[in-house]
Amino acid sequence: MTELVLPPAKLFIGGEWVEAKGGTFASENPATEETLCEVGAASAADADDAVVSAQAALAGDWGKMSPRERGKLLWRIADALEARTEEFAQVETADNGKPIFESKYVDVPAAIDALRYFAGWADKIHGDTFAVQGPFSMAYTLREPMGVVAAITPWNFPIIQAMWKIAPALACGNAVVLKPASNTPLTALKFAELAFEAGLPAGALNVVPGRGSEVGQRLVEHPDIAKISFTGSTEVGRGLMKDAADTVKRVTLELGGKSPNIVFADADLDAAVKGAYNGIFYGKGEVCAAGSRLFVEKSAHDELLEKLVERTSRLEPGDPQHPKTRLGALVSKSQRESVLGYVDVGRKEGAEVALGGKPRDVDGKGYFMEPTILTGVDNQMRVAQEEIFGPVLVTIPFEDPDEVVTLANNSIFGLAAGVWTRDIGKAHAVAAKIKAGTVWINQYNWYDSGAPFGGYKQSGFGRELGSAALDSYTETKTVWVGK
Ligand code: NAP
Ligand code: MG
Repeated sequence: MTELVLPPAKLFIGGEWVEAKGGTFASENPATEETLCEVGAASAADADDAVVSAQAALAGDWGKMSPRERGKLLWRIADALEARTEEFAQVETADNGKPIFESKYVDVPAAIDALRYFAGWADKIHGDTFAVQGPFSMAYTLREPMGVVAAITPWNFPIIQAMWKIAPALACGNAVVLKPASNTPLTALKFAELAFEAGLPAGALNVVPGRGSEVGQRLVEHPDIAKISFTGSTEVGRGLMKDAADTVKRVTLELGGKSPNIVFADADLDAAVKGAYNGIFYGKGEVCAAGSRLFVEKSAHDELLEKLVERTSRLEPGDPQHPKTRLGALVSKSQRESVLGYVDVGRKEGAEVALGGKPRDVDGKGYFMEPTILTGVDNQMRVAQEEIFGPVLVTIPFEDPDEVVTLANNSIFGLAAGVWTRDIGKAHAVAAKIKAGTVWINQYNWYDSGAPFGGYKQSGFGRELGSAALDSYTETKTVWVGK
């Protein structure tokens, strides 16, 4: 690994690095427990400054840029990021603990892909004309940017989550103030500088790390912010929605999940084992759409479990910067405590630990843990109802399709689901009945910039990616014309 290229301990506002009024805080490498660097801690006053600079961008060069020019600029930014894939991937891995294999081949490329996908939309967002009644009348619509958009992101996919918001918001002509998660602020800061250097006008993208309860809260309350695009926990999302009501802000929420992954006995069991494994252990299980509840038809349960345990027993935590590592460190000490706490909760509720369940280290350091499988779980247990957000799978046997649909839907969440069967009729029937924003049939954890993603129920509302995302970042104005 080459030396990490880390951002200065400042905020990126109005096209430059500025001192934070809230001092600094440390960003930790969870695999080594070392401080990577100090990061500027934005205060509420810094959030206000970022909003002023975003408004100035909208009134200036950025607001005047034509949609086609915006598209070309997003392409240039994508090219600039692509040229620095390795550098961004190394920093993402150091900050979050995820394997470099993921950062380099999934996270950074997915961020680049989102930029290119929405670059293509920039000059294709248009209104309509209508056959209205009345003499000499006509009506048409304009799709206008909302104004200043605040993006608040979590720590599990830092650069991906940032880009799923920044790319469509900029393509639609908004200015953005981004508040990254305190655990993983580094790649967003680096990206703001990269975008500016690639030609993004000053103030079109501002990045203000800092405490959610302070700088995040100020963005939610700020009267000059038109929209909050939030990805994070259901708990914080609930409070945010209430607070945004005071200024009737537009809000989209991408929240937590407890997604069912359903395996029927007639499935290709080897493919299902692989899908169940990737569904929960990819990204250390710190994945909003993780297939964390594995439902297996009784007649196939023991065989599938045996194969899954065998496969998982070969998954060893390792140095995240090593190209062969497939299981990294959990993002923080407190996250590992919380996840291990759930393993204890499961034991007390009567679940059996079929594999794993213990903390680990690599060379004496780091917040690693063993990949964990809990069996003998009932869907009503806390470990089946609450989001654990770590490499912990619970398995639940079922008898027939109606029963499993009822169990799968018995959750406050509705983010994603998986269905494994060779019976195409059954696959579609189950997909139709599952209350979730995404259903994968005979695959799991697939995404594309062109396909919408988001939740049902308390997994949130609004859709990211695809043309659906454009609705989240534009207002529709109807213009009437008389004689
Ligand atoms: P979190 O605690 O809800 O934090 C998310 C973001 O909100 C962070 O930037 C946080 O700042 C900020 N925040 C905290 N309190 C705030 C407040 N009062 N006002 C405004 N902002 C505030 O979630 P997390 O622990 O970072 O991420 C894990 C959660 O995200 C999981 O529940 C996961 O399922 C969900 N997630 C959902 C999706 C999806 O697409 N549905 C994708 C990824 C993750 P600090 O970091 O400073 O606390
Ligand atoms: Mg960190």
